[in-house]
Amino acid sequence: MNELNRRTCEEAFRRLDHFLDRRLGPEETRLVEDHLRVCEACTREFAFEASVLIGVKQKLRQLAAPAELVSRILSQLPPTPEPKKP
Ligand SMILES: [Zn+2]
Repeated sequence: MNELNRRTCEEAFRRLDHFLDRRLGPEETRLVEDHLRVCEACTREFAFEASVLIGVKQKLRQLAAPAELVSRILSQLPPTPEPKKP
């Protein structure tokens, strides 16, 4: 991992919370999404954070995130049983 990459990782992490809350502007959102597409480490970390913050996969699907990105994040999550619907 080169230095530029590491700095981009830091930038992405700084925006993690806001990104998950969809509070970033379009430009910053794109920056994070672009980084997640090329950085597997951050995708895993984002997935972990997302699972902690949001709790269950079900909730993640409700986010207004691009479907492609959500499924990419979901694919990084450890397999867990789907919560049963009442
Ligand atoms: Zn990264």
